[in-house]
Amino acid sequence: MFCDYHVHTNYSDDSDYLMEDVVKDAIAMGMQEICFTDHVDYGIKLDWDEPEKIAYRDGMPLANVNYPLYFKEIAHLKEKYQDQIVIKEGMEFGVQMHTIPQYEKLFAQYDFDFIILSCHQVEDKEFWTQDFQRGRTQKEYNERYYQEIRDVIEHYRDYSVLGHLDLIVRYDEEGVYPFDKLKDQITDILKKVIADGKGIEINTSSHRYGLKDLTPSRDILRLYRDLGGKIITIGSDSHKKEHLGAYIEKTKKELKELGFTHYCTFAKMEPIFHEL
Ligand SMILES: [Zn+2]
Ligand SMILES: [Zn+2]
Repeated sequence: MFCDYHVHTNYSDDSDYLMEDVVKDAIAMGMQEICFTDHVDYGIKLDWDEPEKIAYRDGMPLANVNYPLYFKEIAHLKEKYQDQIVIKEGMEFGVQMHTIPQYEKLFAQYDFDFIILSCHQVEDKEFWTQDFQRGRTQKEYNERYYQEIRDVIEHYRDYSVLGHLDLIVRYDEEGVYPFDKLKDQITDILKKVIADGKGIEINTSSHRYGLKDLTPSRDILRLYRDLGGKIITIGSDSHKKEHLGAYIEKTKKELKELGFTHYCTFAKMEPIFHEL
């Protein structure tokens, strides 16, 4: 089955790819299923209930998903294209320790199929701007990043998979910090994920960012496999047409070579296994 489990649309602050265009393009490329995973990043972005407070960056609102409109449009598209593609309701939650209560509240309000739990900021500091890394050594910011994820999953359970687990690599100006030095922390995270019946995603954007490794790295993927991890989703993290569905079939082959036998889709927060 050809599906994409990490897809952004105009409901994310960093995309203007119209949701219906995503659906049409996915159908045109032969996709059977798509899961929308637009951004929510409490701490640095506001909800739409106070639109007058929302700031804009490059013409895009620094705001979370407009929840009522989002679910309404998905419902409409699901019906309109029901004979052509399966559409799932997901979101990407950029959770930090101090924002957990807001996500718990949001999760309780809607019926989700799938939630990607990502670490996009720590202490409200972004990685892509280097605000988080500045003033810390490479060791310090790598350890602090994984510590935040470990702390969050100790307290927050409303998710399906961890998104782009080694995201910090993408924004590390010092190069890749050695896996061996982070192995204990990452092992601890993966053990918790597995024990809680959650999973991880493989994020094919590593190819378009020109990273040498997969996201997460092959070392992390092997570790997950060795620890008994089975739940894994595949997503492009697309924000525009040329990203949609990219490298997904190639990634299935990679996963097979790494010793995985299945990947997952989700319905109502439950994994469905498909042979690779
Ligand atoms: Zn993300
Ligand atoms: Zn994303």
